[in-house]
This record gives sequence, C-alpha cells and structure tokens, in this order.
Amino acid sequence: MDGQTVGRSDGRPGSSDVPRGAAAPAVDPGKAVLTIRPSDRPTVVVIQTAFLGDVVLTTPLLAALAAMHGPVDVVTTPAAAALIETHPAVGAVIRYDKRGADRGLRGVWRLSRRLRASGYLRAYLPHRSWRSAALARLAAIGERVGFADSPAAATYTRRVVRPTGGHEVERLLALAGGAGTGVAPPVRIEPTVDDQADAEAWLGEHGVGPGFVALAPGSIWATKRWPGYGELAASLDRPIVIVGGRDDARLAGEVIAAAPGRAHSAAGQLGLRASAALLARAAVLVTNDSAPLHLATAVGTPVVAVFGPTVPGFGFGPRGPRDRVVEHPSLACRPCSAHGPQVCPLGHHRCMREISVEAVAAAVEAVTGVEA
Ligand code: SF4
Repeated sequence: MDGQTVGRSDGRPGSSDVPRGAAAPAVDPGKAVLTIRPSDRPTVVVIQTAFLGDVVLTTPLLAALAAMHGPVDVVTTPAAAALIETHPAVGAVIRYDKRGADRGLRGVWRLSRRLRASGYLRAYLPHRSWRSAALARLAAIGERVGFADSPAAATYTRRVVRPTGGHEVERLLALAGGAGTGVAPPVRIEPTVDDQADAEAWLGEHGVGPGFVALAPGSIWATKRWPGYGELAASLDRPIVIVGGRDDARLAGEVIAAAPGRAHSAAGQLGLRASAALLARAAVLVTNDSAPLHLATAVGTPVVAVFGPTVPGFGFGPRGPRDRVVEHPSLACRPCSAHGPQVCPLGHHRCMREISVEAVAAAVEAVTGVEA
C-alpha cells in the first residue's frame, strides 16, 4: 500500500494525543450505521502504524471491534492520527512517531510502559511488524491477536490465518472474526465541521464550484505515478483540483501548467480530513494506487484508479459500483512488486507510459456521465 501523504502533514488538530472530540460526522458516505458497545473505558488497543492508506482500510476493523468491545484505543503514526481520531469507534489515538521522536528501542520501551499503565486486556495487531509485536508484549497485554503469517507471530497469544485473497478490508476484518453474515462496516473517515468549512473556504477562494475533477498524481513509489495527469487535465472540460502532500508540488505545477486557470492545487494546503472533505465534493477522483484512493472511498466519492506495477488483485483496489480501474491490457511483467519499485527494473516503465489519456478520460466520462 502506498504511503503517499495527502494534504498537510501536521494532521490537525493538535500535536498531542487527542481523545475523540465533539467531531460532527458532516460527511455521510451513505453507508451502514455503526453500532458501538457501551464501555466504561477502552480495554482494547489496536496497534496500526502502517501507511496512511492502510490505516484508512483498518477503519472497518476498528468498527467491528468497537461493536464487540466498545470504543478502542489506537496506536498510530502522527500523520495518520488525524484520519481516525474523529471516528466513532475510536476512544483515544496514541501517537507513535516511530521514525522521529520515538524511534529505536527507547521509544518502544517508553510507549510500552505507557500502554502497560493503561491496563489493556487485548491488543490487535493488523500491522505484521516486530515493532508492533514488541510493543504489545512489553506492555504485558494479556491477549495479543495477530496474523499467523507475521514474522512476529510467535509472540502472539492468538494467531489468525490471514486470507490469501480478497480485499484488504476483509483480510483485516479476519482479525475480529471476519465480517460474519452481516454487512461489513464501511471504510470511513469523519471530517469535522471545521474540516468541512476549511474545504468549502478553499474551494470558494479558488472559485471552484460543483462538478470538479480531483487529481492525485503523486505516490512515494515513482513507478506508480501515471505520467499523463497534465494531458488529462488539459483534455477535461471541467475545473480541476489537485490533491496531495507538499512533496507533490512539482507534479501539481505540471498539471496547472497544462490547464492554466482551470486547474488549482490544494496539495499541502489542507489537513488530511479537510482534504477528505474536499474529495467528498468532487465528481470523481483520478488517482494512482495510493492513499487518496482510499480517502475518496471513505467519503463516498467514485474513483478512477490507474494501476501500473501493482494490480487490484493485491487487495487494495477500488470496488464501489461507480469506480473504474484503468490498467495496461497486456504486459507480462505486471505486477513486478508488492508496492511498485522506485525504478522500473526493465527500464521502460511501459505499465504506466502506455496507458493512454483517452482511456483515463473515457473512464472519467463513464463515472461522471459526461460526454467528451
Ligand atoms: S517491470 Fe513492468 S510492471 Fe514493473 S515497473 Fe517496469 S513496466 Fe511496470
């Protein structure tokens, strides 16, 4: 899963651990109502410190666990905290800056002491890492539930067979015993009223009205970036808004240059939830196999997803009724890695370069119902 950052990396609001506040679920993806078991205090902690998109795809698991145990606390990265701290299934978000202030053994030890003091009875470990396993073990959490194929599986008290196929959402839900016979909880993000206002203000300031097309041209894995976003923007007769992080400024500049006056960049200008609120107002998002795909899904916006070195069969593709996937029709080297390499090992990058602008534009038109 791509860890591309979307929006501002400071993840407003706040920089300390933030319990779920009085966030208003102003975006309704039109999905299932969440049932949460009443609870005096969280007894369950979920340790999920993977990439942003993975954290978004973990929200159905959080909802399923909350239905069984009451609101769950979540250990996650500072960047991802904003995505889940307003989710109704979440009690408190515990920020773990594993590559910064909390890196190394000292950080693991410090956080494990804190988790131990909270007295959790059970830890769920969707991220198959030694670090997550060590945190739960050192915190002396009695029941530790993770996947049997994790390198750290020997440290778990309950090992769950990870489904080999299907979507990542269902694979993660297996930790909670699967989706059962009922409706699986939706992938969901809850922008606050302030997030909604930020998105509205940004669109107003840039004169962008309804019906705009959002583009997410970035990815931290270079081979997952489709190079046709500028040409696509030029071909579409609609307002364009580019979403992404600060690192996507160059890509955003190329799109703006291709559609001057019609394309505007929100990359790095909005927080993650405000970016999601902005996406909720788009007619469609065109994206690579990266985090924005899941953000759009979480707010009910259809996507056109361009896949190159990876394939939807890995379990991270879109699957909404209006979503479209555009990929090379026949290329024996696809897929070539789980994430997509930084450089094409064959040197030609045909998996992306040979996806035509016309094919992507046709998918946009199919989603929006607009003729060329
Ligand atoms: S080897 Fe094939 S799938 Fe991998 S990056 Fe190159 S063209 Fe794409």
